[in-house]
Amino acid sequence: MQRDHAGAAAGSVLTCRNFVAGTWQDTAGPGIERTNPATGEVVAIAPRSAADEVDAAVRAAAGAFRQWRRTVPADRAGHLHRLAAACADRVDDLATAITREQGKPLDEARGEVRKFVAALHYYAEEATRVYGRTIPNDAPGFTSIVEKEPLGVVAGIVPWNYPIELIGWKLAGAVAAGCTIVLKPSEYTPGCAQVLSECLAATLPPGVANIVYGDGSTGQALVAHPLVAKVGFTGSQATGQALYRAVTGVTGLSLELGGSCPMIVTGSADVTAAVRGATRRAFRNAGQICIAINRIYVHETVYDAFVDGLGAAADALTVSDGLANPAADVGSMTMDETYRRTLDHIADADKRGARIVAGGGPVEGPGLFLRPTVIADAPDDALIMTEETFGPAVGVARYTRLADAIDRANGVPGGLAAYAYTNDTRETFTLAGELDFGNVAVNNVDAGIINAPYGGRRESGFGSEHGPEGLESYLQLKHVRLRHDAQ
Ligand code: NAD
Repeated sequence: MQRDHAGAAAGSVLTCRNFVAGTWQDTAGPGIERTNPATGEVVAIAPRSAADEVDAAVRAAAGAFRQWRRTVPADRAGHLHRLAAACADRVDDLATAITREQGKPLDEARGEVRKFVAALHYYAEEATRVYGRTIPNDAPGFTSIVEKEPLGVVAGIVPWNYPIELIGWKLAGAVAAGCTIVLKPSEYTPGCAQVLSECLAATLPPGVANIVYGDGSTGQALVAHPLVAKVGFTGSQATGQALYRAVTGVTGLSLELGGSCPMIVTGSADVTAAVRGATRRAFRNAGQICIAINRIYVHETVYDAFVDGLGAAADALTVSDGLANPAADVGSMTMDETYRRTLDHIADADKRGARIVAGGGPVEGPGLFLRPTVIADAPDDALIMTEETFGPAVGVARYTRLADAIDRANGVPGGLAAYAYTNDTRETFTLAGELDFGNVAVNNVDAGIINAPYGGRRESGFGSEHGPEGLESYLQLKHVRLRHDAQ
């Protein structure tokens, strides 16, 4: 088998090495072997970094912070724009690495990389728009200045479903703010981070952005490190809760966790548009999206039309190896655990008397391929209506009163994103006001855009990424009270 450091071409194995202080490090101990979930072939090998290897990366970031925090915003902006350009030059390398280890179709992976590049440019520009303020004092001869200063070393821990884009939100926000960062990619998607490290090496000063590979044990060592000023975590609710208990009281923390996202389709909605939206947001990336639509409540007057439309749309999606068929709608799922969980949720709904109107099981042959599945008449206590599935399956249920639909939509622990389709102004404002989620999208299903704050509520975590807030979260305030005696 051929091994290389740079390309991600079919048949090659990406060798990942920790990226610390601008160079690639040799690590001791057994590593991680990542296989392509569509084919089973080994596509990347990576270290399972131990505490001393994590320590080296954090120390490199702490050393670089002393200088990086002093750079002027325009300088940091220049570095981020150059990083964006370097990544734009390697869209295909990054996207191929993503598809080979994560499973999403290549065209979709290219889209992810382009959004990552856009986030880098966005935060490059935001870096130059951070302002403090002056405050009048109640005695003459004094002035108070409020400054915003970078926090220090950030630990950025990310999952595998958008392995490059999610790195981007933390990397760009932190580096734009003047922080330095140690990134810990998911053990399921190390290869694309290795490609990224080559872009980092070419564009950022040594130590500003570092990467350590490993699983949860590596993540634990990183969040417990005393020189880490803030942990920015994206991942599951279970890990987020463990992390909440693990970080010490003096380490900042933001948690972007999962949830079970609802959609409400009212009697006034454009049903065709609602079907189109539900199809996109329930099945894109094989449903492995934190803001995927998991459960849909549809007014009784449009219920049958909606269920028929969604079933037909799901059946029309192409499910295929995303490397062989870059334009496929749905690729392989990424991990065994979520593949099985999705099958469990389908079986549970079936057992409870729901109707499977599209899909319902695996695609014949190798790989973690599931047919996009629509479950009609799903009872409120079915797993598909109460838990995050994280697979290509969605439950649909009927409602009569809007207030009841909103209660059911709000009735799960997580509060990340909710969707609604309606053509009635009162319904629109009622839904926007009453849905208890950090993001509410009405008559569209793109709940996150780069220049508006994005974050969850309740069990879906706290803190915001995107927008100016995604940069502010890496800053701390300083009050400087000056006595100058000018009258
Ligand atoms: P996960 O929680 O298993 O892992 C996420 C990351 O945490 C990985 O890098 C993992 O190695 C690391 N980790 C695991 N245990 C750790 C520990 N004890 N201490 C420190 N780090 C640890 O999640 P996953 O399966 O990779 O990702 C899927 C989940 O992520 C879903 O629940 C999804 O909803 C959520 N997600 C949320 C958002 C959001 O923006 N809110 C975005 C994408 C995914």
